Amino acid sequence: MTESLVAQGKWVESPWAMQRGPLLEALETNEEQGLAVQEVERRQKEFGLNRLKEKKAVSPWVRFFSQFADVMIGLLAAAAGISALIGEWHDSLLIGLIVVANGVIGFLQEQKAEQALEALKAMTKPKAKVWRGGSLTEVTAEQLVPGDVIEISAGNAVPADARLLQAADLQADESPLTGESMPVEKTAKTLAADTPLPERTTMLHLGTNVTQGRGQAVVTRTGMETELGNIATMLESTERMTTPLEARLSKMSKQLSVVVLAVCIVVFIAGVWRAGDAGLSRKVLSEMFLVAVSLAVAAIPEGLPAVISVALALGSQHMARRKAIIRHLAAVETLGSVNVICTDKTGTLTQNKMAVAHLETSNAEGHAQETSPQKTLELLLRSGVLCNDAQWSDEAGGVGSATEAALLQEARDRKVDVVELRRSWPRLKEFPFASDRKRMSTVHRSPDGGCWVFVKGSLESILARSTHIQLDGERQPLSGQASQEIESRLAEMAERGQRILGLAYRNGVDENALPKNDADAEQDLTYLGLVGIVDPVRPEAAEAIRRCRSAGIRVVMITGDHPGTARAVAQELKLMDPDDEVLTGPEMEKLSPAELAERAPRVSVYARVTPAHKLQIIRAHTSHGSVVAMTGDGVNDAPALKQADIGVAMGITGTDVSKEAAKMVLADDNFASIVAAVEEGRVVYENIRKFVRYLLTTNTAEILVLLIAILIDLPLPLLPVHLLWINLVTDGLPALALGFEPAEPGTMQRTPRRRDESLFAGGLVRDILLSGTVMAVGCLVLYYFGLHHKIFDDGTHPDMAAYQESYARTMLFFTLSAAQLFYVLAIRSSERFFFSDGLRALWSNYRLTGAFLIGLAAQLSVTYVPFLHNIFHTTSLSALDLCWSLLVASLAFWFVELHKLVRRLSSHRPA
Ligand code: ATP
Repeated sequence: MTESLVAQGKWVESPWAMQRGPLLEALETNEEQGLAVQEVERRQKEFGLNRLKEKKAVSPWVRFFSQFADVMIGLLAAAAGISALIGEWHDSLLIGLIVVANGVIGFLQEQKAEQALEALKAMTKPKAKVWRGGSLTEVTAEQLVPGDVIEISAGNAVPADARLLQAADLQADESPLTGESMPVEKTAKTLAADTPLPERTTMLHLGTNVTQGRGQAVVTRTGMETELGNIATMLESTERMTTPLEARLSKMSKQLSVVVLAVCIVVFIAGVWRAGDAGLSRKVLSEMFLVAVSLAVAAIPEGLPAVISVALALGSQHMARRKAIIRHLAAVETLGSVNVICTDKTGTLTQNKMAVAHLETSNAEGHAQETSPQKTLELLLRSGVLCNDAQWSDEAGGVGSATEAALLQEARDRKVDVVELRRSWPRLKEFPFASDRKRMSTVHRSPDGGCWVFVKGSLESILARSTHIQLDGERQPLSGQASQEIESRLAEMAERGQRILGLAYRNGVDENALPKNDADAEQDLTYLGLVGIVDPVRPEAAEAIRRCRSAGIRVVMITGDHPGTARAVAQELKLMDPDDEVLTGPEMEKLSPAELAERAPRVSVYARVTPAHKLQIIRAHTSHGSVVAMTGDGVNDAPALKQADIGVAMGITGTDVSKEAAKMVLADDNFASIVAAVEEGRVVYENIRKFVRYLLTTNTAEILVLLIAILIDLPLPLLPVHLLWINLVTDGLPALALGFEPAEPGTMQRTPRRRDESLFAGGLVRDILLSGTVMAVGCLVLYYFGLHHKIFDDGTHPDMAAYQESYARTMLFFTLSAAQLFYVLAIRSSERFFFSDGLRALWSNYRLTGAFLIGLAAQLSVTYVPFLHNIFHTTSLSALDLCWSLLVASLAFWFVELHKLVRRLSSHRPA
C-alpha cells in the first residue's frame, strides 16, 4: 500500500520511524541512482517546487501611487488648484503634468533599484547536491522533490526535510527550528514514531545547517510541507534595510527641508511685503504662494535618498559583473573605505589546481627518498586513496577537494586502480577533515579481514601522533633524530611553496571496538611518508596586490598551511615587504590582544591558523580603526565573516553557512575580484558625492536668485513653472546620469577614506555655496541688464513693459538652466579638467552627454518654439542675447575648472 503513496501525490508520514528499505520503497527511489529525470518533473508538478511562500511583495501600482503620497506633492497639488482658481489654466495643467512626470521618474528609479536587487538575490540561491539518474549533480534547492537522494556535508544549509540514509560524524545546528543552541548529533538509526521534533536525530530539517561531518539522506517533505513551512506559514518577504549612508542622507535632506521651508516662508512674506498695499490682494497673495511652493519643490532635495539607492544598486550591478555579488547594499559603500584585506591563500590567491610534485618515504639512514621499497610506497599511496573523500571518474579525474583530487591523480599515474582499491578496502568509519585539526582519518577492513586506520594531515600533527616509522618496508620506533630530519625536509619543501601532507597508518584495530572519536583513532600511528603538492598562484593576483598597495590597502594572507609554504607563496606574489613578519596560530595564542594589535601592522602572513584566529586578527586591525574585509569558506569561518566590516565568502568552494554570513560572495573565488569590488565601491561613493554636490549647488542657486531678487526689489525672477521645469529637466536627468560616471584614473591611487569621514569632507560645503553663488549672481546681473537695457523689439508688443520683463525673465530662466548643465560637466572630476580627455569625455559617460543635450534642447525649445511661449511665459531671445546667456551660464563651469587649476598649482608648489 505504501508503495503508491508518492504515485498518489501523498506525503510519507513519520519517516523517522521507517526502516530505510520500506521508506525508499514508499518514496519509489533508489539510493544509488536517485530519481530519474522525468520522474522529478512529474513530482515537481504533483508536489510543487521546494520553496516557502513569501508574503506578497508590494505591487508596482501601490509603489507607483505611493510616489504621490508626499508632502511636496500635496503642496504642488494645492498650487495647481490655486492656479486654476485664479484662472491660470495653463499653469495648473502644467503643474499637474510635472507632478505626474516626477512620480513616473521616482517610480522608474525605484523599480530599477528593485530589479538590480532581485537579480542579485537570484545569484545567491541555495543549491543542493542530488543524485539524479545515477549521477551526482548540483541543482537549486527549489528543484528538490520527495524521493530525491541528497548528499550533505559540513557547511551545507539543509535544503528540505530529509531522512538520513548514512551519517558520518554528522552534526546539525537546529537552533532556527528548535531554539536549541548546541549542534545536535545526527545518525541514520530508525526512531519511535512518537519521537518529538527536537529528538528526531535521524531527520534533517529545512532551515537548519550542517556543522560537522557528512551524510546521505532522502528528501521526505518539501516547501510549505516541511517543519519550517509549518511554523513559518509564510516567510516575510525580506525588506531591504537602509544603508548608513542612505540613513545619513535622508536625515540630512529632512534637515535641509526645514531650512528651505523657512526660506520659502521668508520669500513669501518678503514678496507680499514689498507689494505694499497691493500685497494683500488675491492676485499677489496667490502668486507669492505659488512661488514659495515651487521654490520648496525645486530646492528641497527630497529625491536625494532615492537617487542614492539607485547609485548603490547600480554599483552592486557593476560589482556583480566583476564577479563580486553583494548581499547587503551597505557593503557597497563600506567597500570604498576598506584599508585591510585579509585573504585566504588556497583558491583565492592560488588557482586551487593542485598536483603532487613530490612524494617520499624515508630509508634506514634517515634520508628521504622517492624510490623507497615498493611496499612502503604502496602503503603510502593506499593511505592517500583510502583516507580521501574525492570521487574518481575516468572522464573528470578526481572530483572533490583539490588536495584530495591531486592525491587520487597521483595514485592513478602510478598505476593504482583507485576504484578497485576502495572496493576491496571498505570504509567502516571516518573522522572528517576539519581546518582546526588539519587532518582526517578513516577506518577500513582489509581484504584479509584485518582492520586499519589511515590518517593524513599537516605533517607536524601526524608526526606528533606517530610512535613508529615505516623504514625499508618495516615498522620501527620513530627516533627523535628521524623526526627532526623529517621536519627539516618539511621546511625545505615548504620553501618551494608546496603544501605538505603527512601520511600514517595503524593496523590491528578490533573491528568490534572501533575508535569512538578522532583522538582514539589517531594515536600510536606509524609514519609512512610525505607528499608535496603544488598549487600555482593566480596570475592576476600579483597585479591585484600591486593595485592594493598603490591604493593604500594592506593585504594580509591567512592560511592553514605551513609558515614556510605561506611565506614562499607570499614572496612570489610580492605581498611581503622585507621587514614584514609571518606569525603562526600557535605564536598568536601566546600574545595578548594588545600585543597582537601592536604587531598586526607588520604581519603580512598568518600561517597554521584556525578559523577562530581570524576573529582575533580582525579585532587587532579594527582596534587601529581599520576597515577590514575578510574572506572565508568553511562553516567555522562564519563568526569571522560576520565580525569583519566586509565578510567575503567563496562562491565556488564556499559553504552555504559562510555565504549566509557574508556581505559579499565572490562568484569566481578570486582575490582580484575583491579588489575590483573595492574599486567599484570607491567609484560609487565618489559618484554619490558628485550628485549631492550637483543637486545642492543648483538648489542653492535657485534659492539665492529668488531671495536676492526679492530683497533688492527686482520683479519676480522665476515663475512657478520655471522652477518646476528646472527641477524636472535640468536637475533630475544629469543627477541620475552622474551615478553612471566611470572610475576616474586616480581612483586606486588614493588612500582609502576614513570610516567616519563626512560625505562633505574636503570643503564640499564651501564649494557648493561658492558655485551656487557664482551661478546666482551671474544670472541676476544678466536679469538686471535685461530689465533695464533696450531690447530686441519687433514692434508687435503693445505692452512694452510687460514684454521687457518677460524677455529678461526668459534670459534668466535660460541662463540658470544652462549654467546647471555646464556645471555638471565640470564636476565630473574633482581633479581632472573637463578637456583633459578631449572628445573622449563626451562618450565615457554618454548618458551624461545625453542628459546635457536633452536639457539644452528642451531649454531651447521652451525659449524658441512659439507654441510653448504661452505655457512657459517665455519669449524668443535675440542671437546676441543668447550668446550673452550662454557666456554667463558657463561662469560656474569656468569657476570650478579654475579652482582645480589653483589646487593643482598649490599642491605642486615646493614646500
Ligand atoms: P587557505 O587558508 O590557504 O585557503 P586553508 O586554511 O583552507 O588554506 P586548510 O585547507 O585548512 O588550509 O589546510 C591546512 C592544512 O591542513 C594543510 O596544510 C594540510 O596540511 C592539511 N590539509 C588540507 N587539506 C587536507 C585534507 N583534505 N586532508 C588532510 N589534511 C589536509
